[in-house]
Amino acid sequence: MAKVLCVLYPDPVTGYPPVYARDSIPALGDYPDGQTQPSPSAIDFTPGQLLGSVSGELGLRGFLEAQGHELIVTSDKDGPDSEFERELPDADVVISQPFWPAYLSAERIAKARKLKLALTAGIGSDHVDLDAAVKAGITVAEVTYSNSISVAEHAVMQILTLVRNLLPSHHWAATGGWNIADSVERAYDLEGMDVGVIAAGRIGQAVLRRLAPFGVRLHYFDTHRLPTELEEQLGLTYHPDARSLAGSVDVVSIHAPLHPQTHHLFDAELIGSMRRGSYIVNTARAEIVVRDAVVEALESGRLAGYAGDVWYPQPPAANHPWRTMPHEAMTPHVSGTTLSAQARYAAGTREILEDFLAGRAIREVYLIVDGGALAGTGARSYTADGSASPGSGQTG
Ligand code: NAD
Repeated sequence: MAKVLCVLYPDPVTGYPPVYARDSIPALGDYPDGQTQPSPSAIDFTPGQLLGSVSGELGLRGFLEAQGHELIVTSDKDGPDSEFERELPDADVVISQPFWPAYLSAERIAKARKLKLALTAGIGSDHVDLDAAVKAGITVAEVTYSNSISVAEHAVMQILTLVRNLLPSHHWAATGGWNIADSVERAYDLEGMDVGVIAAGRIGQAVLRRLAPFGVRLHYFDTHRLPTELEEQLGLTYHPDARSLAGSVDVVSIHAPLHPQTHHLFDAELIGSMRRGSYIVNTARAEIVVRDAVVEALESGRLAGYAGDVWYPQPPAANHPWRTMPHEAMTPHVSGTTLSAQARYAAGTREILEDFLAGRAIREVYLIVDGGALAGTGARSYTADGSASPGSGQTG
């Protein structure tokens, strides 16, 4: 019987919700590329309820315990005395969400002698040292597409939030003011701007499609070029590298995975090559940008705004400079964990567990590492070239 160690974010400070704002979430069909929704044999939760926090348990307890497996759920994940580290040595499966990542560094993987599956309930497995997972023969899987549209919506929201100067305007409304000039002195229309994405995978493409009706000029860079028909349909300008794109746009939205090729891609030099007054939105991973280069560019005016929902480490310290830098519109890491997204990735997590525990193959598209190599989506979107997996232990 398997021991499943699941790290989830803490419940709301007001307690696990007894009631929700809405009674249901929409039922969706296949994903935009035809991939089918998660298909576990059953689910033991009500879609639309909070599943990603400790009491939600991703809806897994009934299913696992009915089969005699052990489920341990904790939010205590950091440091040698954490419950995660104490339970890790004899865990067969670790489940973690990127919003509250259980960092599986090479050292922790070395301690996890029974670990066979590191399952990301969501998308983005850079919190696992992928090189170490390859070497240890651990399968790494994630619930591909489960929250890609959720993130795309958040990125579009944050682009508009920055360009329209939403948060300062809201501040005046909420604090009794009517300060029109204070609100608009940094407010612009998005229409007519050049907007680009770094990576046009599932999220990046969804952002491009959502922005097309805004009357912007769209640009992208991806290591895989999109089909010509799609480029023509959306009026996309392709750039051969990040430098070319960064210098050609007013807004950059980052949607690449974090791996050695993208680690600290947006450093002071690349940001310095952008048009004065550019905006960066980063809902991908914090370490794709250099933390202090962002702060300095906001202070100097090179950047007019920075927004995103990804930080390093997570949770960040109370004095993390992105909490107080000027012209930011940061959120905690929430874009991919709406109640809508949770229903999909909880179902996908169960689908992966059902297959793994029954000895069946996990869907190819969910795989990041398998059989001692990058596999599935991992083989297309990541590199594991022997250098450290950036998200799993270095400082940001
Ligand atoms: P995806 O696999 O569909 O797309 C990734 C794309 O990145 C691919 O098209 C790939 O070719 C491209 N790419 C890889 N390396 C690149 C490089 N060096 N330069 C340019 N392009 C490169 O993944 P997705 O669903 O679009 O998700 C992308 C990333 O977004 C995830 O890896 C994750 O880090 C992040 N994410 C964040 C959240 C959140 O809640 N904020 C949720 C989901 C995913």
